[in-house]
Amino acid sequence: METAYTDNEAYQDNFDPEEYINTYYNRKSGIYVVDGCLDFELRKLHEAFATRGVKGKTLIDIGHGPTIYQDLSACEAFDEIIGADYTDRNREYYERSLRNEPGTFNWDAVIQQVCDMEGKGMSIEEKKKKLENTVKKTLKCDVLKNNPLEPLVLPKVDCVMALGCLECASSDLDDYRKALKNVSSLLKIGGHLILSEILNCSSYLSGGKRFSCLVLTEEFMRSAIAETGFEILDLEVIYRKYDKEQYDFCNHDSTLFVLARKVKDVK
Ligand code: SAH
Repeated sequence: METAYTDNEAYQDNFDPEEYINTYYNRKSGIYVVDGCLDFELRKLHEAFATRGVKGKTLIDIGHGPTIYQDLSACEAFDEIIGADYTDRNREYYERSLRNEPGTFNWDAVIQQVCDMEGKGMSIEEKKKKLENTVKKTLKCDVLKNNPLEPLVLPKVDCVMALGCLECASSDLDDYRKALKNVSSLLKIGGHLILSEILNCSSYLSGGKRFSCLVLTEEFMRSAIAETGFEILDLEVIYRKYDKEQYDFCNHDSTLFVLARKVKDVK
């Protein structure tokens, strides 16, 4: 489906956090629940932080949107998490979710799932507290800028994570390569990059509005990540069954997760 490029201002004006979260993460009907994408992300994030031992002082979660599932494993491995997203409404919703405010999405089942994987007997309440204490703030960011956190200049961090963000922000493959370079400039050499993208998706529907998505392939992702100065430590793709109704919302055919280590700065 051809959709005109959705730019930053369109995200700021039209991206409704609640509509997005309900469409994609609803326990029963969510697109990313039905296609197995959420379970896949939770498993891969657990693997990265608990099994492979990715850890450190600071992790930046870029393009977090209104969701918090992605920080549940990370908060055990990092002293602090800093969120970053372009839109004001997403940053507000994310902060309200961390404070567990009434009316925000209920992640309890997902939190329980993560606690079960970790196997330390942590309760849902304890995990929520841990998350709230670890996420220190969320900052306005634009991955299309050389320094995405401009005007702030942060010391380089140990881990940068961007799930489903760069493909929404980029209008073409060149843009994607630049966005990847921009976010990796926030990372120390030796630090870890965690990326996840849906593949072969051209657009997605949220709150009755269609947003563009850059069509990505595994092959492109492998070369873009390597060209940006990374060594890929883990890369996995899961595929999705065809279903017209589901594809009308979001037409990806697979989801990719990558863990990579920065070996050099690329100019
Ligand atoms: N990470 C979440 C949300 C993905 S939706 C998830 O896993 O479901 C895409 C997110 O990218 C939105 O939150 C949107 O605000 C953000 N985004 C879009 N363009 C951006 C840009 N130029 N810079 C930073 N974030 C951007």
